[in-house]
Amino acid sequence: MSAGEVQVEGAVKRYGLVEAVRGVDLHIRGSEFLTLLGPSGCGKTTLLRMIAGFEAPTAGRILIDGQDVTRVPTYRRPIGMVMQNLALFPHMDVSENVMFGLLLRKEAPSVARRKAADALKMVGLGGYEDRLIHQLSGGQKQRVALARSLVTQPAVLLLDEPLSALDLKLRQQMQDELKRIQRQVGTTFVFVTHDQEEAMSMSDRIAVVNQGRIEQLGAPQEIYDTPASLFVANFVGETNVFSGCILDAGDQSVGVQLDQGTQVVRARGSGFRAGDRVELMVRPDYLRLGSGAPADGLPGVVTDRTFMGSGTRYLVSAGGREIKVRTPHRPQEAGFAPGETVQIHWEEGGCVALPAA
Ligand code: ATP
Repeated sequence: MSAGEVQVEGAVKRYGLVEAVRGVDLHIRGSEFLTLLGPSGCGKTTLLRMIAGFEAPTAGRILIDGQDVTRVPTYRRPIGMVMQNLALFPHMDVSENVMFGLLLRKEAPSVARRKAADALKMVGLGGYEDRLIHQLSGGQKQRVALARSLVTQPAVLLLDEPLSALDLKLRQQMQDELKRIQRQVGTTFVFVTHDQEEAMSMSDRIAVVNQGRIEQLGAPQEIYDTPASLFVANFVGETNVFSGCILDAGDQSVGVQLDQGTQVVRARGSGFRAGDRVELMVRPDYLRLGSGAPADGLPGVVTDRTFMGSGTRYLVSAGGREIKVRTPHRPQEAGFAPGETVQIHWEEGGCVALPAA
């Protein structure tokens, strides 16, 4: 089987006046789980459909394993596809659905049946060969669609929001399953979702798409900890944004004088000079609450507190705005109650400075 590398070079897609994809360069590595993440209408499905060959790019090229497939029809590309609506054949049983692609490729029925049985075992549906599609649960149908796409051993599997119709619990279970199967078969997975938690939990790398462009490409933790823009910071997880001014600028780190309060906060950031205006991005997990003297931190009043099991989420009103703080669970500590006056502290290493808009 080939390595499953995909190169998207300068891809543009226009529909009349709408520019759905505006010049995307993306190198997807062989055997990786890459997610295209972005809000509705950002162009992620169009990008996936160009890799699949359902849409021809207005400009640019698509290469799979070094071969230019821009003008190669879908059925000749080494890809498989799983869509949200699954498109299973209701009048065929499970085994016939999975065998379908193999028979189209002139595989002998006995071999196709054996391969289908193997694929069904891999997705946890061994023994379901003779069931009809309407006799399956939503999660089981999902697995049949996956087996049907994998049985032809594509180099790249393209998945367009395949889990969005499932309820939360089943969805989480299928996320784990998909990841396990991807590791086992070693096929490149290109997965489209608008759900940032889903992207975080499954992907080797995430490409955050905004208005037809890739705004950031990186490992989930990198995207979370070092967002390249305020859009990424806001779209991937919760964030607080403070305005300030660079006091001193080092190679990779800066000191920021906040407009609010008297704090000077150390943050990651490069390319700045003293005096530059910045926006300081801080995840709720990198803020701490204390009850010390006012000079210690930014003073505020707790307005809301939600216990979340693994931690507690606070809303704190400070200087006329609401700040989100998430603290890890400590059974022996009482925490802070609504109405209580607190000091907000910044954790070293948790802040990122971005140029002010
Ligand atoms: P969603 O999560 O809602 O599916 P998406 O990020 O996948 O969104 P696309 O489906 O790629 O977004 O659409 C990107 C843009 O291109 C949107 O503005 C959409 O309206 C437009 N678009 C998509 N397909 C067509 C089409 N066939 N004709 C005209 N405009 C289109």
